[in-house]
Amino acid sequence: MSFDVPETKVANFDVKSTIGDARSGTLRIKDTELETPNLLPVLNFYAGGLARSLYGGGIHRTMKEFMTGDDVIGGGDYSEYFDGVMTSVGSLTDYNISRERYEDYIAEPVKEREVFEEFNGTLFLDSGGFKFLGGYELDGSNFEVEIDQAKIFEIQQRMGGDIIVNLDRPIAPDDDYETRVEKARRTAENVVEFLNLSEGTMSARFLTLHGYNYSMLDTFLGEIDDIVGASRVHDEFDGVALGSLVPLKDNKGRLIDAIQDCRSILKDWGFDDLPLHVLGISSSAIPLLAAVGADSFDSSSYLHSAINGKYNTSLTGSKSIDEVDFSKCNCPVCSNEVLVSRMKGNAEYRKDELGPVAMHNLIVQKREVAYIRDCIRSPGTDDLIEYLESTLGQNKSMRLFAHRVVNESLGGYF
Ligand SMILES: [Zn+2]
Repeated sequence: MSFDVPETKVANFDVKSTIGDARSGTLRIKDTELETPNLLPVLNFYAGGLARSLYGGGIHRTMKEFMTGDDVIGGGDYSEYFDGVMTSVGSLTDYNISRERYEDYIAEPVKEREVFEEFNGTLFLDSGGFKFLGGYELDGSNFEVEIDQAKIFEIQQRMGGDIIVNLDRPIAPDDDYETRVEKARRTAENVVEFLNLSEGTMSARFLTLHGYNYSMLDTFLGEIDDIVGASRVHDEFDGVALGSLVPLKDNKGRLIDAIQDCRSILKDWGFDDLPLHVLGISSSAIPLLAAVGADSFDSSSYLHSAINGKYNTSLTGSKSIDEVDFSKCNCPVCSNEVLVSRMKGNAEYRKDELGPVAMHNLIVQKREVAYIRDCIRSPGTDDLIEYLESTLGQNKSMRLFAHRVVNESLGGYF
């Protein structure tokens, strides 16, 4: 199932296979290709440092060393795990940087920098609306940049995202109806400005949507329709990014509701041919959300698990790093003596001990997502059902949700 790509679009999303509500395809943007469903690790490219330290960032720095196959981690080619990466304009505020450093960080596109030349994946550059929700200022140690839609777009262009999104106003679980409508209206105003500013851009443009259920999403799209016009949304956007789910990240039932309802509303509004990205969820929700039709995800759980001393054994399982038998994993990190020794604590800095754990976690997550993709691409629903049954179905707290998506999206067991 492919479709004609209007001239204003930069991306081509080709759905190759669907089983039930799950689908698998290829998202092509410029010279990048991302197979879906896929997981984009969250990474901070600019974290206070200089080019010689890969722009710093502690454990993020170690991830960038893996991404570029740096000698520091013993080289090697990890590029397949960085076929897509998520970063945010908002991450520029994670470290106190000077005005001069800020100007340097936005002076040249990420992928055109010599230190990142090994990175050829799809770069998703979030607006950071979540981050700027309160202040709308980029605070440095001695400067301020007023953040608005125009500024965010300028930074996205200068950093060179393959995928960019409008500046959004995420909703919060305790927002009342009026507040949500107001946020939708202000986001819609940003959308108009974003589309006007970005006309002719070479970046794929994704529309940020917010809502936990059909009625909230319908209200949101209603505001967008009033201010932007539905046809413009359909003709000019290359994809949809569903946000505001972070507060629900531990509630699998509500996450499934949100994705099912989002796919329904996209269908009802005629946006079903657009790829659906789910912003900022924990990796353990991926099998369920892919089964009900989400196309891509971003997650920092590989990093947070490592920082908490957790070593992933699957998308949903982990062990304490002290209890791990590294010889049981065949990933390139656990097959490397030097990296194993560091994971066992033989490292001067904590980042060198936990960085390889984070990379192992990412590999485990990426491999499992690739397996889910294969299941969706194989004929019939059996492979995906068996995968869900043999993984989530074995876990008491997840079994209910595995059965639910099998019954609701994959035609049930019988
Ligand atoms: Zn491993």
